[in-house]
Amino acid sequence: MSITIIKNADLYTPDPIGIMNLLVCGSKVTAISADDFQLSDNIGVEVIDLQGRKLLPGFIDAHAHITGGGGEAGFATQVPPVPISDFTGAGVTTVVGLLGTDDTTRSIGNLLSRVYGLREEGMSAYCWTGGYHYPLTTLMGSAKKDMVYLEPVIGIGEFAISDHRSSQPTFDEVIRLASETHVAGLMTGKAGIIHFHLGDGDRKLALLERAIKETELPARIFNATHVNRNKPLFDHACELIKLGCYIDLTAFPEGFSDPGWSAAEAVALAVERNLPLDRITISSDGGGCMPDFDTCGELVRMDFGRAETLAETLRAALQKGVSLSQILPMYTSNVANLLRFPNKGRIAVDCDADLIVLNEKNEVSDVMVLGTWHKRDHKMCIKGTFE
Ligand code: ZN
Repeated sequence: MSITIIKNADLYTPDPIGIMNLLVCGSKVTAISADDFQLSDNIGVEVIDLQGRKLLPGFIDAHAHITGGGGEAGFATQVPPVPISDFTGAGVTTVVGLLGTDDTTRSIGNLLSRVYGLREEGMSAYCWTGGYHYPLTTLMGSAKKDMVYLEPVIGIGEFAISDHRSSQPTFDEVIRLASETHVAGLMTGKAGIIHFHLGDGDRKLALLERAIKETELPARIFNATHVNRNKPLFDHACELIKLGCYIDLTAFPEGFSDPGWSAAEAVALAVERNLPLDRITISSDGGGCMPDFDTCGELVRMDFGRAETLAETLRAALQKGVSLSQILPMYTSNVANLLRFPNKGRIAVDCDADLIVLNEKNEVSDVMVLGTWHKRDHKMCIKGTFE
């Protein structure tokens, strides 16, 4: 078992607790102390002195197209699978993969195989079942069976509403899927939520609002993403969160948030509007295509998401006066709470040793995943099989 001592870390658990020393044994954090650790000289120990640099929990990216997404403007626009270092290099130590528009040529089997591949390469990976459309694309025949029988499947997503690419699902279809994921969540202890892709449609979050108000299903299982993509949608999300659900912001690449808010702007607004910050999360949409449609639904421009926009968003939010302790839980402990990952999203004894070191410019300089360094001094030390 490898043993690492990380000294003089400005530790964010994600709460800031000051300068601390950390003992990592194998894949776990074993001790945290303001005092030096005294270990016998005949044990091989790696000692790293951070000299006061910030040490954070690894990011949990709950929305990434790990198989590659896209394909919305012809087969040539299918994005290739995302290599592990695109995630780990950006500080993502746990990823949740999903299918989007293309739940036809992409399958849950293919998605699971990428989850297993990323695990073999050293990071934590899970997935949603389904995709944009109703009836859902599944492996076992239903979302409930996928969740109950397939260990990495934690819920349904990304299920599209208020979007011209959705299957125009009805209220009854939405609440039936929500009840499936809720019951499977109870049976397995998994997240048991339905993660909704929101488009630019005028109906915004009306389906979710009605489901929360009119059914017995708990608000937490209705989880909307891309809610910062336009301003009226974000305003609606600010109302919806008060009903008890979580909302997810997308860290769009720079220049791509028009006509909405960048995730950094949305976080600053959430602070200003006194929203419950512990129910806001941020994800990358990594590997997903970022098409821009005009008002007639015609494609005008194409890009794809990257996990590095998470740290870019963090830096942009800090520049807007948001504090690190306000935004950091949105990448870490809030996501872990929603997804029921008890050993993730925080730096604590017995939790997984998923760690990020920031340099003085708040860039991700070092990343440890499950006790192993994947990035040291801005250089990747572990890469994917074909990188
Ligand atoms: Zn989406």
